[in-house]
Amino acid sequence: MLPDTQVNKPLIGIAGGRQSLDTPALLLDLGAMTRNIERMAAFAKARGVGLRPHVKTHKSVEIARRQVAAGAIGVSCVTLGEAEVMVKAGIPDVLITSPAVTPSKIARVVKLARLAGPGGVMVVVDDPRNAADLAAATLGLPHPLEVLVDYGAGYNRTGAASAAQVLELARYVAAEPRLKLRGLQAYAGNLQHIADRQQRSVAAASLRETIARIVAEARRSGIHFDIVTGAGTGTHDLDAQRDAFTELQAGSYVFMDAEYAQVLQGPGQPSPFEVSLFVQTAVVSTNAAEWVTVDGGTKCFATDSGVPLVARGADPASCYAFFGDEHGKLLSAGQRPALGDRVEFITPHCDPTVSLHDAYHVVDGDTLVAIWPVDARGRH
Ligand code: PLP
Ligand code: MN
Repeated sequence: MLPDTQVNKPLIGIAGGRQSLDTPALLLDLGAMTRNIERMAAFAKARGVGLRPHVKTHKSVEIARRQVAAGAIGVSCVTLGEAEVMVKAGIPDVLITSPAVTPSKIARVVKLARLAGPGGVMVVVDDPRNAADLAAATLGLPHPLEVLVDYGAGYNRTGAASAAQVLELARYVAAEPRLKLRGLQAYAGNLQHIADRQQRSVAAASLRETIARIVAEARRSGIHFDIVTGAGTGTHDLDAQRDAFTELQAGSYVFMDAEYAQVLQGPGQPSPFEVSLFVQTAVVSTNAAEWVTVDGGTKCFATDSGVPLVARGADPASCYAFFGDEHGKLLSAGQRPALGDRVEFITPHCDPTVSLHDAYHVVDGDTLVAIWPVDARGRH
């Protein structure tokens, strides 16, 4: 069987091609994505902070290129595989936001740093033992390996757990000639999705105060964090104050999803970013009286953040329910879609949904304008 990238290729440039796609198809609204990229870039510029968009959301070289062309200083990657794809594609200034700990990962980091050259790749560390292992592996690397100290930021998925640990680690890195201390990472994933903006704002401000204290304390002991990186889409505007962060790592803003659209819209205020990512399904069975069945299930949508929402092709008040690996149950409100009709959905959670697909079907209105691979899909 041909991959969906090939099956849908003949439709590129044909008016109305969007209605003939082989489904399920990951759709990307080019206009909406472009506006999101431009809006975030303009926002960061106006606030005087850098933007290092997180590639985990899209895993796409083409989209990373567009983000950099719009003003991003580089990109963030969570997996080494993403970083390898980006560096090899010529994307500058790549930060790996999760520690590389096992011998094979450490060897890959060093190899990538050699390929990228000075300033090309940075990796976070959260443990002196890991810093020592990285340093020991740099044999033959013509420049020091560039690292950021990772602070847990109250989230503690990774990162040093306290200011004291951050300083201890920073001193170790600063004193180790085979490593170059570039800065501090403080990513609080737990704050990004707080639904109440006031609560989110208070929590983000409190974290920034803590970070500012750590940075000041480090400075007093002669340690400079040139980069202080963190923040996601949920706190991007709150954190762009220049009181703690020098740059933002937001990722989801480029696509948005059902969950984030809810979080970012204030009372009577629209979200600053548009939903640009959809999944197009087709109605494959209409015999049940209460619902129609579409060809997108748990292998097509991430399942960790609720259900897909109807965007087009059925009444938006219709309710989707997961109906197995490859199917969804659409309890239709309003007019019932017919057999073969296309129904497009807003994804519940963009990043893990993207990683279920091979390619983006890039649309401009009813025209399929391009097919872009999800380049770093499956790259860990
Ligand atoms: N930075 C790190 C370390 C992350 O893990 C993530 C996402 O989980 C982001 C940035 C991007 O956050 P968001 O998708 O909320 O914009
Ligand atoms: Mn996410």
